[in-house]
Amino acid sequence: VSERRYDPTADEWVTFATARQDRIYKPPAGQCPLCPTRDPAHPTEIPRPAYEVVVFDNRFPSLTPNPPAPDVDATPIVPIEPAAGRCEVVVYSDQHDTTLAQVGVERIRLLVDVWGDRYEVLGAEPEIRYVMPFENKGEIIGVTLSHPHGQIYGYSDVPPRPLRELKAAHDYRRRTGGCVECDVVSGEISDGRRIVARGGGCVAFVPSWARFPYEVHVVPEAHRPSLTQVDETERDAIAELLARLLAGYDRLFGFSLPYVMGIRSAPTCAPGELTGRLRQLDGLEALASWDDISHLLWQFAPVHRSADKIKYVAGSEMMGGAYMTDVAPEDAAERLRHAVG
Ligand SMILES: [Zn+2]
Ligand SMILES: [Zn+2]
Repeated sequence: VSERRYDPTADEWVTFATARQDRIYKPPAGQCPLCPTRDPAHPTEIPRPAYEVVVFDNRFPSLTPNPPAPDVDATPIVPIEPAAGRCEVVVYSDQHDTTLAQVGVERIRLLVDVWGDRYEVLGAEPEIRYVMPFENKGEIIGVTLSHPHGQIYGYSDVPPRPLRELKAAHDYRRRTGGCVECDVVSGEISDGRRIVARGGGCVAFVPSWARFPYEVHVVPEAHRPSLTQVDETERDAIAELLARLLAGYDRLFGFSLPYVMGIRSAPTCAPGELTGRLRQLDGLEALASWDDISHLLWQFAPVHRSADKIKYVAGSEMMGGAYMTDVAPEDAAERLRHAVG
């Protein structure tokens, strides 16, 4: 089964990829598929003896370019479609026992270019309408391979969360004429209490509404819809901030901090192209482009609320979508600000 089914009660799609159940689960270090191929008789996924950053198609993808027809018939109320899309793996280093926090700022700078490059390449494919690089880090997040890596999904629609944010940004722009993220960022900079680090036209801060205790957003201060519009200086600044933030996380907690990271940017299709595929676009489809309402953003969501306590996504969050957080964003930002140095 490789298909997506529409939930008419929530106006969202859910993807089914049952072949993924057979994927490699926590292999021993000697058999890591993301390590370099040191012995040609025992090749890994990467046929090279050494590398910096490698991108390749996930062998167990949730989304494939040419999915088979769905197994179950759609109904008028529950449309079912093949789950088209792309899933790539991004390996950050040929060293098995390192992390993005440890690879150094130059490697992160290269990764920023790789993210930008894949955004453009995958986004140019006609069936892909949204490209989202992300990283799940740490066993507690459910990572099955400990070798440092992230993923890039190319979706055939804008996923629910970014879509909701685009709708909110569109509504904000209609009311005020501005970009909501630009205004949030300038508000945070003038307030200062939730800033973690700043430099080169980019800023890292704990949002006032952080859903996770040590959630941090890293954004260009100028309005940049996606990595395509980010220049070399800003890419340098983003790499620098990411390196400082990740080192700060590990320093503050005293161990390699697990997190979920995701990059939000403009959809890679025209707004009008979504008409008919998504319900309740609230006027988004009439926009000429996403450029005015999309603002590039790195979001980090660690699950720890202290070194020995986890913030679980449980009853209120999972069933109500209502996040309850027991660390004040101002306190989290102050601790992180000291830790990043
Ligand atoms: Zn490895
Ligand atoms: Zn903006």
